[in-house]
Amino acid sequence: MTQQSSDAFDRAHFPFRHLGPRPVGADSGEAPSGEVATMLAELGYGSLDALIDAAVPDSIRTDRPLDLPAARTESEVLADLRAIAAKNVVKTQMIGLGYYGTITPPVVRRNVLESPAWYTAYTPYQPEISQGRLEALLNFQTVVLDLTGLEVANASLLDEATAVAEAVALMWRAAKGGAGVVALDAELFPQTIAVTRARTESVGLPVVVVDLSEGLTAGLAAAGVADQQLIGVVLQQSGASGVVRDLRPLVAEVKEQGGLVTVAADLLALTLLVSPGELGADVAVGSAQRFGVPLFYGGPHAAFMAVRKGLERSLPGRLVGVSVDADGDQAYRLALQTREQHIRREKATSNICTAQALLAIVASMYAVYHGPAGLKEIAERVHSRAVALADGLRSAGVEVRHDVFFDTVSAVVPGRAAALVAAAADAGINVYNPDADHVQIACDETTTPEHVLTLVEVFADGRDVTFVGGGSVLPQELLRSTGYLTHPVFHRHRSETAMLRYLRSLSDKDLALDRTMIPLGSCTMKLNATAEMEAISWPEFADMHPFVPAEQALGYAELIEGLQEQLTEITGYAGVSVQPNAGSQGEFAGLLAIRDYHRSRGEHGRDVCLIPASAHGTNAASAALAGMRVVVVATSGAGEVDLGDLRAKLEQHGSQVAAIMITYPSTHGVYEEHVREVCDLVHEAGGQVYIDGANLNALVGLARPGEFGGDVSHLNLHKTFCIPHGGGGPGVGPVAVAEHLVPFLPGNPLTGEGASPVSAAPFGSAGILPISYAYVALMGPDGLEAATKTAVLAANYLASRLTDHFPVLYTGEAGLVAHECILDLRGITAQTGVTAEDVAKRLMDYGFHAPTLSFPVAGTLMVEPTESEDLAELDRFVAAMVAIKAEIDEVANGTWAIEDSPLRGAPHTAASVVSDAWSKPYSREVAAYPLATLRTGKYWPPVRRIDGARGDRNLVCSCPPIESYS
Ligand SMILES: *Cc1c(COP(=O)(O)O)cnc(C)c1O
Repeated sequence: MTQQSSDAFDRAHFPFRHLGPRPVGADSGEAPSGEVATMLAELGYGSLDALIDAAVPDSIRTDRPLDLPAARTESEVLADLRAIAAKNVVKTQMIGLGYYGTITPPVVRRNVLESPAWYTAYTPYQPEISQGRLEALLNFQTVVLDLTGLEVANASLLDEATAVAEAVALMWRAAKGGAGVVALDAELFPQTIAVTRARTESVGLPVVVVDLSEGLTAGLAAAGVADQQLIGVVLQQSGASGVVRDLRPLVAEVKEQGGLVTVAADLLALTLLVSPGELGADVAVGSAQRFGVPLFYGGPHAAFMAVRKGLERSLPGRLVGVSVDADGDQAYRLALQTREQHIRREKATSNICTAQALLAIVASMYAVYHGPAGLKEIAERVHSRAVALADGLRSAGVEVRHDVFFDTVSAVVPGRAAALVAAAADAGINVYNPDADHVQIACDETTTPEHVLTLVEVFADGRDVTFVGGGSVLPQELLRSTGYLTHPVFHRHRSETAMLRYLRSLSDKDLALDRTMIPLGSCTMKLNATAEMEAISWPEFADMHPFVPAEQALGYAELIEGLQEQLTEITGYAGVSVQPNAGSQGEFAGLLAIRDYHRSRGEHGRDVCLIPASAHGTNAASAALAGMRVVVVATSGAGEVDLGDLRAKLEQHGSQVAAIMITYPSTHGVYEEHVREVCDLVHEAGGQVYIDGANLNALVGLARPGEFGGDVSHLNLHKTFCIPHGGGGPGVGPVAVAEHLVPFLPGNPLTGEGASPVSAAPFGSAGILPISYAYVALMGPDGLEAATKTAVLAANYLASRLTDHFPVLYTGEAGLVAHECILDLRGITAQTGVTAEDVAKRLMDYGFHAPTLSFPVAGTLMVEPTESEDLAELDRFVAAMVAIKAEIDEVANGTWAIEDSPLRGAPHTAASVVSDAWSKPYSREVAAYPLATLRTGKYWPPVRRIDGARGDRNLVCSCPPIESYS
């Protein structure tokens, strides 16, 4: 189907809005002179199809167009989603287990969660244009540090279960990977134990679940590991059964045995309880969900991790730190990045890349909004409801299992648990039965006295009840005496006006997609349409607990099955799991599936993972996590897998090869001609083919990885399928597999059914799946195919316009690129000293977010315009790059020394250019308004270039405390 003939491109249909360049003839049947035609003319092609035929190798092209329902309008798709949502039954959620009802302050919901200024931002790798979200994430770290009583916290992890798994790995690293065992408290949430087991089992780290009710020594003895070296213990402060114990004796026992201590904690409970740091913990982890982030049927939510000083270099995930800019002013940026997988690959601290920035920001703003006193009041209210409930249950003749608890009451109801859960559900409240004899009820910010009364009546079964309840059952020695959140930011924004302006002042500092294209190669920063976003805050999607009975979640089931069908059709695979919370987790899940498949065939020795030198760092890090040995395959001339080297490696490792992980199109931005041959060679050697699907935006509708040789791929719904990047997450990284791997897709983390789970919630970040579902439904098969073709057109247009100024490093056989292109700055750097980083920073003065810097090739910029940018925006980018090249020429000519050039001086703040002292050899006008077009709508970077190394030497990762403030 060609664009011209499809009614999907009339004004009423969504592709008309999603695609940037005006398609040929799309505007009221005008002559074929649209922007697409202009761009094709630049490339010398008469039609889009001719360009695509030249760019995309025949050998991978599908002969089967997408078999998906035709595009529907925004109103139609929203009506469809309303009907699906209506099939979810929303009850009061008191199941607990790490997921609690919470109230998102409306000012935060509308102005962060639903605000494109926040949700369309990228990960703050370019800190000068990210000061707003970096400050918000620093606030998040401060909340975590203050409440946990530890010294360094990261800016979010994916969920509580993976955070515990990361903590176990961290303790193991700290023990230098020596022999020994990690003990998991039997009071950890069941899903936490399941996910941690899957993670540790793959690297051969022994973990045992121990019952600590009789102390550590007795617990280890009962688990049969008393004679082993204890590497560490993970304790849960408010246990899965609701119990709150004094952990000090346990911590002392662990320390005596030379082990490390991780405490899984609840941030709200920590406003009342002695902090993990004060208890002697080395690491604290948990979820920040109940700080204003909706339940979302399991996610996305921000998990956190904090460590004591000395462990910060082992800390996984991103870490915001304080440094200074070129003028000596305080500025924020990501710290200790050399720990991350982009650099350390299989030796990285973790494979985590995309995390949960947006949700961490929401949680931080909940703390900013309520302040320490407000948070404490909420915690006291939650606790007093639980106390009232326990009193009521007792008055109804029901035994209450624990005397000391925070929010969760465990009722002892021999043989009656299932019936009581059903009766409570009939009364509109979901509660949880861990077994046939207990029912657990978790109170939260939304719990009212009426809820308590309703539950007591359910349990009383007609008996008279009298109770007043309230107050506290927390003994003095468990109550914290240390303060928290003393920094002014947690005190200044109590009125909604002040809060609104704080949010606005932060987002105004940042460049997100709502202001400019973000041409980041490999990241696919395309339109995140408003219609796609709308459904996520509907209560039928937002207020669902992940462990509700299946019959209450029929809407979600339909949505998820629908999306799985869309994705299997698009990828050519047989099955999809949406459980992984990011691409990195999809990689891990896919590699576990490969491992389990080999094992199921008795091939236990297959543990080599072949990875091309050009691969994304997460590939190698995930392979290491999956217990595989990484063997690097060389890349040759145009950036493709070197077939000779592949043959040699297969020869060498033949019967040990588990898999190859390739990216298609390659990270070099070209469609490799011989990918089928690569797949065949690996298959012949008995290995499986993992195709990293991060670049699927160059394939949808044209080719299917499942058809040209892949056995498994992860997709990044936050790239190709329009989930916004959130300033560094959320993400969804579904893993798609061929038929023979379907049995090995991630299983249920709560019930233990199926293969190893990789996330705490059965459907991962289910709450944002409506976005991708809506995108596919809105685009239809023709729209999706047109999006791919337009993305390839836009990348080739930019490559063609820019290559005379900055050479394009790799092209395919026809001299064309795929959906992105690498601009090679290395020659320029050698001649002039101007680096790719200088160009990235100078682009900020021109109002642009930089392209991807130094990936996959150091000293280059990788540009991916996507299909959503119109010709005017593409040309604005070209104009900026051409002007920057002219500036580089001035450096080459000797007009400016590199140190005194606007390139090295970039970015320029308003303060620096209006300063009375101006000693640069270039004018202020050149600094701030190098193009006349900037005179309207100038973006002013809030800080000058930031000194990253200095911030790493003096690590400051929280708001500087101001003691006198209260
Ligand atoms: C983005 C990306 C990943 C990692 O995905 P996350 O969602 O950030 O974990 C892996 N491979 C490639 C090629 C990517 O571009």
